[in-house]
Amino acid sequence: MQRLVLFDLDNTLIDRNGAIHDWAVQFAARHSLADHAATQLVELVQERAFPVTFETIRAQYRLQLSAKSLWRQYCSDIAAAVRCPERVLAGLDVLRATGWRVGVATNGATDIQNAKLQATGLIDRIDGVCVSESVGARKPAHAVFETAAVACGSLLSRGGWMVGDNPETDIDGGRRAGLRTIWIPNGRAWPNRPAAPDHCVPDAEAAIALLLANDCSRSVTT
Ligand SMILES: [Mg+2]
Repeated sequence: MQRLVLFDLDNTLIDRNGAIHDWAVQFAARHSLADHAATQLVELVQERAFPVTFETIRAQYRLQLSAKSLWRQYCSDIAAAVRCPERVLAGLDVLRATGWRVGVATNGATDIQNAKLQATGLIDRIDGVCVSESVGARKPAHAVFETAAVACGSLLSRGGWMVGDNPETDIDGGRRAGLRTIWIPNGRAWPNRPAAPDHCVPDAEAAIALLLANDCSRSVTT
């Protein structure tokens, strides 16, 4: 029987936070900005990084390059910096070899998310992807999960799993989309939200092991 699992991308399959920190330090040095600029830059791009973010950065630091150029450089810098652990890549291969459909459901700008999927090799390990910008809706919106499922040749009505680090967008959103959920806390406690995830594991590798170990036809709580 076909089974579906959707993964969040940032800070689930790849370490976006680490890449952003390194980028900010390099960006500040490259543009001869003050020491505290790196911290400000992290804050500016942390929540959401889109081309418009670089209009703000260009104005704030009085940079000569266009916002478009800064955005393009950011996309290539971040794509070059992020990594997906080899054991996660191998785990995704095992999932697909054992009958799973594997997808990515991610919020963000289409060009940078696709650049990250390409650079990490993830694009060759998944059946389908939905980037929020391409559907004009962001997780926790149902449309992002549905589009990712369809891109994998499946449907949400057949059930499946969502793996992610964000309690609201990944876990609440996934549950409301009819998926069972696996939460990766990245060091945080579960917040005061209506429903807990079905499982909690330290990283994507552990999530894959859990999916492979269970027959996933029954609901198991943490
Ligand atoms: Mg995330």
